[in-house]
Amino acid sequence: MRGPILPGATIGVLGSGQLGRMLAFAARRMGYRLHTFSPGRDTPTGQVADREVSALYEDLEAVRDFAAQVDVVTFEFENVAAAAAEAAAEHAPVRPAHRVLHTTQNRLREKGFLSANGFPVTPFHAVRSQEELSPALAEIGAPAVLKTAGWGYDGKGQTAILPEELETDREGTLARAWETTGLGNRDAEQGDEHAGILEAFVDYECEVSVVAARGLDGAFAHFGVMANDHADHILDVSVSPAPIPPQMAREAIEIAHGVLEALDVVGVLCVEMFLTRDGRLLVNELAPRPHNSGHLTIEGHVTSQFEQQLRAVCSLPLGSTEPVAPAAMANLLGDLWYPDEGFDPIAPPWHRVLAEPGVHLHLYGKQEPHPGRKMGHLTALGVTVEEARERVLRGRP
Ligand code: AMP
Repeated sequence: MRGPILPGATIGVLGSGQLGRMLAFAARRMGYRLHTFSPGRDTPTGQVADREVSALYEDLEAVRDFAAQVDVVTFEFENVAAAAAEAAAEHAPVRPAHRVLHTTQNRLREKGFLSANGFPVTPFHAVRSQEELSPALAEIGAPAVLKTAGWGYDGKGQTAILPEELETDREGTLARAWETTGLGNRDAEQGDEHAGILEAFVDYECEVSVVAARGLDGAFAHFGVMANDHADHILDVSVSPAPIPPQMAREAIEIAHGVLEALDVVGVLCVEMFLTRDGRLLVNELAPRPHNSGHLTIEGHVTSQFEQQLRAVCSLPLGSTEPVAPAAMANLLGDLWYPDEGFDPIAPPWHRVLAEPGVHLHLYGKQEPHPGRKMGHLTALGVTVEEARERVLRGRP
């Protein structure tokens, strides 16, 4: 095993969004250099990195050249092809290993891995053609959710199939569901990357997540359980600690620990779960990197999820994940730039946001505020979770 990668070294990040940007802040504070690789220019990460490489992930020579100039390669988004990760691995350790990304890039592989390893998931079925949808539904039952297996995020490429719709027009409902998810446009030759997955609808009380880190030596540290509210399938507000019974929180953390072990993760991984109305935890998704629900760790915990990612991939001791205080995070989506549903974006009144005591503003430096695009977030601490939540929501324009 190689020794730790110490400050002064250079971190290579595949991807260039806000997660890389916040990792770069942590890295620079600790005296590291950071290079970012993506097809974009003037990216959220590139703006604060020592070097921004703009090339396609398919350009394996560019990936090799990038990796040759850094001491370790990590990711800030998971849809990196195996070929790029393998090319990088010829020159620098890649953490987490691409194997982890491969499993989590595709919902069928991910849920297959989870259920094969005894982790609780909602019943699911692969759907590789429109003809397979009807028998799959007969097995899973309605209501159900049809999703694309690969390359989907934030609720994109998914649709609910409801019993009442099936009763009135079964064939039409199935055809519409197939088209709405974009599965109708798939090329059958593309296999599981473009297949569908049909999941039993989960009647959940709330959505929770556990962000955790694992070192090269197997050390494990978690930030407790966050409770997450979504709006239009996009994360809206997270609070920590999640107001759930201590036994459920222990169970959620145990699941997360098991997942990081089973996947042999070196780095940070987030396990998103449903807490059902009848008190069960079901894993919905894994993200092999820091997660939106963990942004509140920057102010809310002794070590942030980004510093923790850095520590884990550099083979340093993991930092204390002790909470500083109950915390809440509210996302700032591009919609806020269109207050009167006009066509031209108007910057929100940040001076008013900053007048709210104890509210921390994070903006990601993105130039184009599209509706639904994550432009930034706010964090606030409180004596209680409720106080933190109220404070952060008062701050949001
Ligand atoms: P995902 O893209 O899997 O993270 O799903 C986005 C959101 O859709 C989740 O945060 C849930 O609110 C909802 N959702 C996804 N899958 C299911 C399911 N099987 N049952 C109920 N709601 C779901």
